[in-house]
Amino acid sequence: MAIDPNFEQSRERVGEEDNVAVWGPIDPPEELGIRGTHVAVDFDICLADGACLEDCPVDVFEWVDTPGHPESELKANPTNEDQCIDCMLCVDVCPVDAIDVDPGRENRV
Ligand code: SF4
Repeated sequence: MAIDPNFEQSRERVGEEDNVAVWGPIDPPEELGIRGTHVAVDFDICLADGACLEDCPVDVFEWVDTPGHPESELKANPTNEDQCIDCMLCVDVCPVDAIDVDPGRENRV
């Protein structure tokens, strides 16, 4: 299952961690929701492949520890999403379609 690109409508923003928006539902450590707005990563799909960290030309992503999550105990957090240049590389390389990038979402929340 891929990230829902309409998560703004289907989910509720429940807070912020490391300056990154958190979209619920969340029930840690098993359920972590979607992180980010312009660059969004579904933490419940992410399996820590790492291609996005390697390929992003402007280093938007940073690893965050997520011990106890069933898919992986590391996640690619879009900590620097304000630097994104919308090249869509991360969307293309993610093996599980956990990332959605949409500059139209920025500043709408
Ligand atoms: S779209 Fe490009 S610049 Fe933006 S986060 Fe993905 S790889 Fe980085």
